[in-house]
Amino acid sequence: MEALDLTDIPVIDEHCHGFYRTQQPIDVIAWRRHFTESVDERMWREHIPSTLFYHRLIRELATFFGCEATEAAVLEARSRLQSDDLIRSFLQAGNIEALLIDRGYPAAELLMPDADVAALAGCRVGAFLRLENLMQELIVAHNTLDDVTEALLAALADVRAQGYVGLKSIVAYRTGLDIRWWDRSDAETSFVQARQEASAQGHLRLQHKPLLDTLLHVAFTEAAKQELAVQFHTGYGDTDADMLLANPLHLRAVLEHRPYRGMQVVLLHECYPYTRQGGYLAAVYEHVYLDLSYGIPFLSYGEMLAFTSAALGVAPVSKLLYSSDAVGIPELHWISARDGRRILGQALGESVAYGDLTRSEAETAARAILHDNAVRLYQLGS
Ligand SMILES: [Zn+2]
Repeated sequence: MEALDLTDIPVIDEHCHGFYRTQQPIDVIAWRRHFTESVDERMWREHIPSTLFYHRLIRELATFFGCEATEAAVLEARSRLQSDDLIRSFLQAGNIEALLIDRGYPAAELLMPDADVAALAGCRVGAFLRLENLMQELIVAHNTLDDVTEALLAALADVRAQGYVGLKSIVAYRTGLDIRWWDRSDAETSFVQARQEASAQGHLRLQHKPLLDTLLHVAFTEAAKQELAVQFHTGYGDTDADMLLANPLHLRAVLEHRPYRGMQVVLLHECYPYTRQGGYLAAVYEHVYLDLSYGIPFLSYGEMLAFTSAALGVAPVSKLLYSSDAVGIPELHWISARDGRRILGQALGESVAYGDLTRSEAETAARAILHDNAVRLYQLGS
């Protein structure tokens, strides 16, 4: 089996997050925190260094910096570079043509402005509007559900003209992907509860299911009208998520709803560990796409190869999209691009060996997944 060499294909990283303004100083525990979704400090201290992902990361970074392959040596080499130099060198080495950033996390004031990132990396930057953040602001600012709905419609008028390439929802780890249609009275009661919580706590974390579901339907109607893509967090995430409710099969009612067919649905993070379920949805619904992210979740090479083969095995190649889901530090965007190309090259090489694809079809498939599908879906061409 001969793997394809995909080094020269520039990637569109269609789901990632911004870069911390200050990359230094970073102590060892703060650094390890970037490589887990666990909020348990003992995990950071005792267990993170023993993941297969972390071992691979340290070795790859040692090669990058030309230092000894130990955590201490890598952190020392890293600390010698300024924030700008770190971001520039990792992103340029990643051969990244565009970063499509979820603006919802981390908070904007911690991050380097998109224009500065674009200049450093020599790449394009696009943005997604995170629906739940917008909804929280509007609920706090308006006294009735009707007013919130009206304000949401106004805020979502012509999303592309506002500079966004699409919408993003994190409903999976708030109230679950089983989005329902609620009676108006349930939504009103839920709105009153949310308002009371907001005034008691000084801020709102929107996890009021009838209210959130009802407002999502408003957003989906707009997305369908504007033929926009909506990215959904699915599967692997922090412990806020009830992983059972992050299974993409829960989206069935939304996917079956005819008036929403104009909205393209992107299932993020290969729905891990529900990759086969996500691949199935991309195979049976014309408007469903499956994102393959190689930075987060933090997996071994073998597991990433397995999910890539599972996705390729069932979903049309035209529905698969490369991403990193990297957050905050540029080595994650970089190692994802490196791993993603290597794994896709191996998985497609296997499909050639099996006789599923010819070598030239496999090369076209690689370019589609790493680049062309995202350009088409998010209309990045112009
Ligand atoms: Zn993300």
